[in-house]
Amino acid sequence: MPGREFLHSPGPTHIPDRVLAAMHRQPLDLVDGRLKEVARSCFEDLKEVFRTAGHVFVYAANGHGGWEAALTNVCVPGDAVLVPEVGHFSNSWADHARALGLEVEVITGDWRHAIDPAAVEKRLREDRDGRIKAVLAVQVDTGTGIANDVPGIRAAMDAVGHPALLVVDTIASLAAMPFEMDGWRVDVAIAASQKALMCPPGLALVAANSRALAVSARLARRQRYWDWGPRLGEESYMKFNGTMPEHLFFGLREALDMVREQGLPAILRRHKLLAGAVHSAVEAWSQAGSLGFNALVPADRAPSVTTIRTGHGVEADLIRRHARETLGVSVAGGLGALGGQAFRIGHLGDLNEAMVLGCLGALEVAFLELKVPHGRDGVRAAVEHLARNRSEPG
Ligand SMILES: *Cc1c(COP(=O)(O)O)cnc(C)c1O
Repeated sequence: MPGREFLHSPGPTHIPDRVLAAMHRQPLDLVDGRLKEVARSCFEDLKEVFRTAGHVFVYAANGHGGWEAALTNVCVPGDAVLVPEVGHFSNSWADHARALGLEVEVITGDWRHAIDPAAVEKRLREDRDGRIKAVLAVQVDTGTGIANDVPGIRAAMDAVGHPALLVVDTIASLAAMPFEMDGWRVDVAIAASQKALMCPPGLALVAANSRALAVSARLARRQRYWDWGPRLGEESYMKFNGTMPEHLFFGLREALDMVREQGLPAILRRHKLLAGAVHSAVEAWSQAGSLGFNALVPADRAPSVTTIRTGHGVEADLIRRHARETLGVSVAGGLGALGGQAFRIGHLGDLNEAMVLGCLGALEVAFLELKVPHGRDGVRAAVEHLARNRSEPG
């Protein structure tokens, strides 16, 4: 296919050429001072991205590894955890916790609304003997395209005075929407390299505050590879429990330089702007009945990914295949219960206005060619949103 291919999955996301170029080099000796400096500076900068003075651990793993790292460091088999359901990822996390031997309690959700902090408060109030050790909340559920109110969940826990740890999956939200680990008193936060952090898949990032570290230190048993204990020291080989994933760090260093140059507040504003453009287009498409937002409440719609339901016999996967194979534009599919009934536009990471318009325009071509009933003028609505809201040209 001539020209560039557009990757609009919510992860892995488009990798900036600078990040790719930074990885194109020979490995360094593990004791080389330059390598140590790359690691040290990345750990420092990641704390700024998580907005924490706590400790950041980096694993050669994907996001699922991050889940396991977090859970095995603060829970032991038999411990109870509370998972408010919000979509495919909250539920997979719950499954993962169950497989680790935890007793999982789910607060049922309908996949179309954000977590209700009042429901969390109610359940915690019933837990009089404090059996629940952790609340596992997903900030953005990438399956449903729903963003949750993390400070609201914290407030619900505080209202009860419940001692459970607050563990948050920020895999699809860190550096795409506000997250204040210390400000919101989140105890453990999990992220991954291949989403808004603009890197290849392969690094799981887990941040822990002093409360979580203290809980972990008291546990009778932790899993050797994930164990925070040895990784807390300064010795690089122990920090990674073996060889450092050097090239992913070379890429991460460059990506964190980009974050520093652009500034986190500007990055978050850009995500909001581009999400607004996508949401304007979907709003316009929805006028004809066969396409519509999964998230029913506008305020719940995530700044990083939009899930669009298809109805009336429209095959979501056919739209995706057509866009990918004939137009070079990849969007993601429906997950879990939404399989085959939705597609998802990722709008996080290294993206600009023209890339988003390219994706939306290509999707409109696919709708017309496949005769998908849709409201016209989606691209026009996105263009107008951008023109109205781009306050700082250049
Ligand atoms: C992508 C994602 C995951 C899983 O990450 P992997 O790297 O695929 O293991 C978990 N949670 C959320 C919210 C995600 O977006």
